[in-house]
Amino acid sequence: MDFINSYAHLPEKFYQRINPVAVENPKLIRVNNSLATELALDLPEDDSAMAALFSGNTIMEGMEPVAMAYAGHQFGGFVPQLGDGRAILLGEVISNTGKRFDIQLKGAGQTRFSRNGDGRSALGPVLREYIVSEAMHALGISTSRALGMVTTGELVFRERPVPGGIFTRVSSGLVRVGSFEYFAARNDAEAVRQLADYVIDRHYSEAKSAANPYIDFFRRVCEATAQLIARWMEVGFIHGVMNTDNTSICGETIDYGPCAFMDTYIPNKVFSSIDHAGRYAYSNQPNIGQWNMAVLGGSLLGLFDDDVETARAIGEEVLETFMPAFKKHYMVRMCRKIGLNSADELGFQLVRSLMQLMQQNHVDFTIAFLELSEDMNRFIALFGKASSIESWKAKWFELIAEQGDSLAVVQERMRATNPAYIPRNHQIERAIRAAEDQNDFSLTHQLINILKTPYTVQSGSDIYMAPPKPEEVVRQTFCGT
Ligand code: AMP
Ligand code: MG
Repeated sequence: MDFINSYAHLPEKFYQRINPVAVENPKLIRVNNSLATELALDLPEDDSAMAALFSGNTIMEGMEPVAMAYAGHQFGGFVPQLGDGRAILLGEVISNTGKRFDIQLKGAGQTRFSRNGDGRSALGPVLREYIVSEAMHALGISTSRALGMVTTGELVFRERPVPGGIFTRVSSGLVRVGSFEYFAARNDAEAVRQLADYVIDRHYSEAKSAANPYIDFFRRVCEATAQLIARWMEVGFIHGVMNTDNTSICGETIDYGPCAFMDTYIPNKVFSSIDHAGRYAYSNQPNIGQWNMAVLGGSLLGLFDDDVETARAIGEEVLETFMPAFKKHYMVRMCRKIGLNSADELGFQLVRSLMQLMQQNHVDFTIAFLELSEDMNRFIALFGKASSIESWKAKWFELIAEQGDSLAVVQERMRATNPAYIPRNHQIERAIRAAEDQNDFSLTHQLINILKTPYTVQSGSDIYMAPPKPEEVVRQTFCGT
């Protein structure tokens, strides 16, 4: 296979050339064969050669490993140097469909950007990222993918010693908002321009024909990010650390840390153990998306216009497109969830009143929409004795009757948009516990397999559909660090 390492051919200040640090005894947990086929990868046949590859112990010909430089705003505070402290980009490949992808190891050893970190990953976060990122992909949400994962045979030290793992991530491109901040903060206008040209060439080539490609590029990143966050909101996904260094420039979900899907619908829900102020709460994600775009715009100002005031005005004008773009996508997706084939204020109002009822009655987000698509009685029962759900139902029947479709047709349509299975936190925790404590990966494999077809109810998989019992509820998720 051919590696085309365009990022490694940018000037040296964009990265550090570094090989993964070999690990003791890598063992393959899983390889994503269908993704490998899409990427036209020639993987070795036997598991130990595969484990050597996915641990970085073997580097294939043509790979040019680098750790990428970036900065970032973490929880609102600027950190001028972050960078890949435990991730190493092995190289880029072109898929069967002609698309370019980065292949990167996470947990591959220390780099110049490791600061005080060990450059490693614990097994738990590796399993979580594999499960959740592949589930997101199956839900049709733009995301980095999982190509493989291994145990390292080494311990890593977190609150306690835990088994180490390495995750192989595939992404359309790993440049982040923080990559631009890195050079902007150093007043390196030339590097900002080089990076923008690189990203435009790779992800936004349509922008090249605009009067000012950089303004058009910024507009497109805002649009892609708004659309992505609308999709997160649609499925109840909480990223957990939407720092600018974790915000992809191509509108892809990246950096799965303390992320989670919510069970009971609670709009201000926070999972991340480090998010004390609720900055990255579920309902705050659109605001944060726009905040991160403001930071990107700030880093690109010099490319918008030579005059600072004019540049700022241009940036602000583009930034103002973010919320309307988000709302448009969100309305369409949410109206579709209740079976409406067009999105207007009236339909959206109905969505909002349903969500209020869900919140008041502590209803599971995913199950509410699933039951509405399947069984009216079970749907009503979710709301206990609330009589208001009956009047909601009457209004809903009115609207779908106006559309002219039968209930059966509407429900059929809804089933394609309301998942039965999401990667529920308590199931992920159960899988991680079995793997860490008993070296048993069967639950992990089961979970990954079921989540491949999230919209199809699969017999014998009821426990993966069900919300957690009170004693199973996971209240916090932790960063991989
Ligand atoms: P994250 O929370 O994974 O987005 O990471 C934030 C920053 O910390 C990035 O620059 C990471 O490369 C770095 N980092 C996280 N974990 C480690 C680790 N174990 N060793 C070195 N650097 C790390
Ligand atoms: Mg990160």
